[in-house]
Amino acid sequence: MASYDVIIIGSGPGGYVCAIRCAQLGLKTACVEGRETLGGTCLNVGCIPSKALLHASHQLHDCQHNFEKMGLKGAAPKVDWQQMLAYKDEVIAQNTKGIEFLFKKNKVDWLKGWATIPEPGLVKVGDETHKAKNIVIATGSEPATLPGVEIDEKMIVSSTGALSLPKIPKKLAVIGAGVIGLELGSVYARLGAQVTVLEYLDQITPGLDAEIARTFRSLLKKQGLEIITGAAVQSAEALKTKAKVNYTLRKDDSTHQIDADVVLVATGRKPFTQGLGLNALGVDLTKRGQIATDGQYRTSVPGLYAIGDAIEGPMLAHKAEDEGMAVAEILAGQKGHVNYGVIPGVIYTAPEVAAVGATEESLKEAGRAYKVGKFSFMGNGRAKAMFAADGFVKILADAETDRILGAHIIGPGAGDLIHEICVAMEFGAAAEDLARTCHAHPTCSEAVREAALACGDGAIHS
Ligand code: NAD
Repeated sequence: MASYDVIIIGSGPGGYVCAIRCAQLGLKTACVEGRETLGGTCLNVGCIPSKALLHASHQLHDCQHNFEKMGLKGAAPKVDWQQMLAYKDEVIAQNTKGIEFLFKKNKVDWLKGWATIPEPGLVKVGDETHKAKNIVIATGSEPATLPGVEIDEKMIVSSTGALSLPKIPKKLAVIGAGVIGLELGSVYARLGAQVTVLEYLDQITPGLDAEIARTFRSLLKKQGLEIITGAAVQSAEALKTKAKVNYTLRKDDSTHQIDADVVLVATGRKPFTQGLGLNALGVDLTKRGQIATDGQYRTSVPGLYAIGDAIEGPMLAHKAEDEGMAVAEILAGQKGHVNYGVIPGVIYTAPEVAAVGATEESLKEAGRAYKVGKFSFMGNGRAKAMFAADGFVKILADAETDRILGAHIIGPGAGDLIHEICVAMEFGAAAEDLARTCHAHPTCSEAVREAALACGDGAIHS
């Protein structure tokens, strides 16, 4: 029976980062993974493959819409879907093999198979049982479906099926205008599908700053996505050649039906913890079925920790990674910590949408006095040169102290631009600190500085 300081169950961004950090901190570490490849949902059927398709489809969009304007003439390329899928698979392979290499380099043992925890301190993988002083559950999440909607991964698909469709659908119905629905919906719209998104709420992307969400919606509409809000999907059925989706409009209870070649169900995800034996161990769960943990990621069972999508908090790869590092530090006797107030969220559409910290709505609700500094990418030369001037940066700062409370960006490279604001927030910076930091010209990041200037004496280029 092999014996470890720590066994991590699951090799997604939470699990593999935790394993590498544990090993770096001198702990004898193993990581259990039942998939053929490491990396979990994110690398195999989530973040990474979807970014490959987003990139390819955006390149196509540029060829079709912007090349001629720049004097680049000639027929736009045709889509070879099988080749695009092969490119996506190659990107996955490079990344998953990269983690395998990092495991070897850091001497993390990969225990291949699906784990159960027969009793505290033991992890069973296949026929073998391993001892562990500590166990970290990092088993992630799986798609949550709706009553009346059965995912077959052929005609009615989750994000997993949507990343490997045999052909580009003519008509795609998307249930849920959250992150997955809009990222993948916009991919297929750019590839020529007629996309209809049905959203229960009156706003898309719940939780996003409402002003950003409104701009986002109108930009998506310009890109050809039909978005129907206030639409409660009741059922979806796969027929011989088409699927049908039934929904009611909440405003008048009227019933409607649309048909589609493929239906993407993107109504959220739920913790994936089946098969671990948590019930028998007596692990406490939250009301929403997540593993309950304290501030140190300890579950109710001594020596058993949990991180990532399996516990509370935003279901984001980078949140899981940070928790993975924090728990490794805790197990190594250090002080692991995650600042949940500064976790960025990014929607990888074109343009990208990024957010960190408070929204205007949350500040109003908290009765907090704040000021708003906004700057449109129309005033940014670099964005204009890239045909990417749609969108704006918005910084929210405390009315009295000028401390940055939140930031919201819709525009080119928003997912990268947000990070200077995250760093500033980590250091408790005021908007003036950002405004007084020299930003290279011409870059899109100047729009961030201008928004910070707008919190004070005013932006220069607006
Ligand atoms: P989500 O929670 O972001 O959005 C689900 C949407 O479905 C909501 O807007 C909800 O109101 C709607 N909905 C629920 N029931 C409905 C019904 N009956 N009819 C119509 N609409 C309905 O969920 P998601 O997009 O599936 O993503 C799942 C998780 O994965 C999220 O936590 C997300 O943050 C994460 N994720 C993040 C990224 C990223 O960071 N870029 C990418 C993919 C997924």
